[in-house]
Amino acid sequence: MLIIQSIEKGIVIDHITAGMGSKILSYLDIDTSKHTVAFIMNADSSKHGRKDVIKIKDAVDIDLKDLGLIDPSATVNIIENHKVVRKIKLEIPTRVVNIIRCKNPRCVTSIERNAPHIFHLTDEESREYRCEYCDDIVSMKEDWKNEILHKERPRYKSGE
Ligand SMILES: [Zn+2]
Repeated sequence: MLIIQSIEKGIVIDHITAGMGSKILSYLDIDTSKHTVAFIMNADSSKHGRKDVIKIKDAVDIDLKDLGLIDPSATVNIIENHKVVRKIKLEIPTRVVNIIRCKNPRCVTSIERNAPHIFHLTDEESREYRCEYCDDIVSMKEDWKNEILHKERPRYKSGE
């Protein structure tokens, strides 16, 4: 069993489906000049067999509500004074902006650089999303690593 030091204050994203942790890290695009990040791949999990875990030191107010798009089975714990003060249950978002990139080369979002990428959930079971502009369908259960956009830095607030 791998022992990772507990953090005094920060965010622990636990029970990430094994293999999804790197996608979540890529999406969050955490400023590592400000935060210490621990990424544990393929840890033993009593619940799910194998899991990934991400610990972000000293960050408490990162907006994680859209994380359910990437992995709805992950859990988010907010840590203060080494204790879990809040648990966030992720939900599959019904509308996402600037997270999935539309692959359709004729879509307005592929042509207009500043057009927001807006997708609507059409099927919760298969996590299918429809592009608002061209009606292209993306399934988040398939290999979609090139469709995920980095979380925008301006939306990111570091814990002060
Ligand atoms: Zn589109």
